[in-house]
Formats: sequence, structure tokens, C-alpha cells
Amino acid sequence: MENKLQFVDLATSHGKKNSHPGIEHFEYSYKAEITNLYPLTKTEKLYQIQIVDPRERKDFTFQPGQFVMLELPGIGEAPFSISSSPIRHGDLELCIRRVGKMTNFLDRVKRGTKVGISGPFGTHFPVEEMVDNDILLIAGGLGIVPLRSPIMSVLENRSRYGRVDIIYGAREPLELLFTYQYGMWKQFDINLDIIVDKADDKWTGPVGLITEILQKRIDNGTPNDFRKKTNAIVCGPPVMFKFVCEMLIKAGLPMEKMFVSLERRMHCGRGKCCRCNIGSTYTCIEGPVFDYWSVLNLKEAI
Ligand SMILES: Cc1cc2nc3c(=O)[nH]c(=O)nc-3n(C[C@H](O)[C@H](O)[C@H](O)COP(=O)(O)OP(=O)(O)OC[C@H]3O[C@@H](n4cnc5c(N)ncnc54)[C@H](O)[C@@H]3O)c2cc1C
Repeated sequence: MENKLQFVDLATSHGKKNSHPGIEHFEYSYKAEITNLYPLTKTEKLYQIQIVDPRERKDFTFQPGQFVMLELPGIGEAPFSISSSPIRHGDLELCIRRVGKMTNFLDRVKRGTKVGISGPFGTHFPVEEMVDNDILLIAGGLGIVPLRSPIMSVLENRSRYGRVDIIYGAREPLELLFTYQYGMWKQFDINLDIIVDKADDKWTGPVGLITEILQKRIDNGTPNDFRKKTNAIVCGPPVMFKFVCEMLIKAGLPMEKMFVSLERRMHCGRGKCCRCNIGSTYTCIEGPVFDYWSVLNLKEAI
């Protein structure tokens, strides 16, 4: 199929009210450009996207865990988590997996392609409230994408946090994302454990499930003092975060200190398509980030 990309003027830089009745939700759209793109694995690419107008770029702020709608003019739009540091305002990085129509088009675009960005949308990981505490970040598969933003935020303010641990699991070594950053994370005194379900010839690290690493940490008493000091941020397939969160609860971590992102339930990301609602809760508007206490109260969330 020919990849015809024409910029139609859908990014208009003004606030308009979301169509969903009863929910106060404003959208802001921006003209933006893909300034760079890099393959990370066979199916994921990192897109660096800049809001074109310098004033709008500076004014575009977001919180770790929020997402944007990315519009490829003439093709469609889809929600993607912001995977970059919140201090970079309108210079965003999105890591996108090729799965269907729009993401296949995105896979073929070139540097300089004009796009539209709306947002930021959704709730966020409350990293500001975690200052002086320990943080345990646990990601499975593509779950590392939304977690990279809180990771960057913590790195930029490293001295304000206590112990920081990352446990990240992927199906196989070639699926690991952001491999070029692991060294830097460790230099910032972050305890990083990577595990894969299935090793290849080159893999020398552990093989198994994230829960095995977590169980070892809990058995060794690290991170210390789950009750008082640790906050957990978990993102991955529902089956993974269900087991991880149950283990953390058993280890004494209060549910209101565990945060998960339920983005997998959503489609349009802004309360329009009505696919993600659990009862009267629109996970795309009241989420994607919830504390685990709220998740358990959202029947069928997991
Ligand atoms: C809040 C939010 C944040 C997201 N962040 C990211 C991100 O950072 N990186 C990323 O690669 N993707 C992310 N996604 C998923 C992304 O939006 C979809 O992959 C994208 O919409 C697919 O569009 P498409 O036209 O290529 O696929 P389609 O042609 O619409 O669908 C192709 C296949 O993908 C499946 N699919 C579509 N949407 C989703 C979804 N939300 N979850 C799981 N499977 C889906 C469909 O069921 C179908 O099997 C996010 C989704 C949400 C709701």
C-alpha cells in the first residue's frame, strides 16, 4: 500500500470539550513533527516528536504515566504513552509497537513527517508524592514504555528518593527495550534486574518470570520496610500485574502505595468509544493509572 502522508489541518491548538456527557475533559491539539525515529526491536520503534510552535512546545507539560493521541493525517489516530522525561515538555518520545493499520503506517514514515498530538490525557504516577521514599518499578513487556517516564523523572531528581529498584521482564532478549539505557540507570544507583522467559545463545542473565525475581527480593528483605517506605509502580499484561500486586500485598505493601496502568483495556483513550468503561468508570479518563485499591474495586478490571 502506498504510504501517502498529507498533513490535513486537524491539529488546531485550541481547547475543545470532550463529547462524553458529564465528564469535564478538554482536548488540546498541536501540530508536531517526527524529528527522529530509531528501531529498538523488530516490532518497536522510538519516535522523537516535537511540537512545532516553540511557545506551545514550552507550554506542553505532562506527568509520568500520561498519554497522548498521535494523529497520522489521513490515516487515523491512536493513544500512546509518553515515554520521555516530563522536564522535556513538548519534545516527546513515544515507543510504538507495530500491530495494525496505523502502527504499520507509522513504521514506514520518515523523519520530518508531520503529525498531530492531542493531550496529555489521563491520570499519572504520583512520583512527587513518593519523594523521600523507596520506589519499586516493575514492568513486563511493553509495560516498560509508560514506566520509562517515571524512571527518567526519578533519575533527574535522584537525591530526593531512597532506594530505587527496577524489575523488568520480556519474553526473550531480543524483545528487551531501551537496552542502551541500562548502564546509565545503574550509574544512578538504581538496582536493575532483567529477566527473560526464554534465553538465546548470548543471554547470560536470569531466565524465568518477574515474580521469581520479586520473590527473591522479598525473601532477602529488599527493598526494606515495605510498610513504611516503599511505593510500587507496576505495568504489564494484566496476568502479570495481578500476581505481582498480590505478592506485594502479602509482603506488606499497602494497596494505596501500589500504582498500575490499565491502558490495555482502552481503545480511543478519551471517553468516546465506550469500550473501556468498567461500570460507570471510564478507565481512559479516570485512568489509565490507578492505585491497586481502586483497581480491586473496579470489578472485572483484571
Ligand atoms: C492509554 C494507552 C496507551 C498506549 N500506549 C502505547 C504505547 O506506548 N506503545 C504502543 O505501542 N502501544 C500503546 N498503546 C496501544 C496502541 O494504542 C495500539 O497498539 C494502537 O491503537 C493500534 O493501532 P493500529 O491501528 O495499529 O491497530 P489496529 O489495526 O486498530 O489493531 C491491530 C491489533 O492490535 C490490537 N490492539 C489495538 N489497540 C490495542 C490496545 N490498546 N491494547 C492491546 N491491543 C490493541 C487489536 O485488538 C488488533 O488485534 C496504548 C493504548 C492506550 C489505550
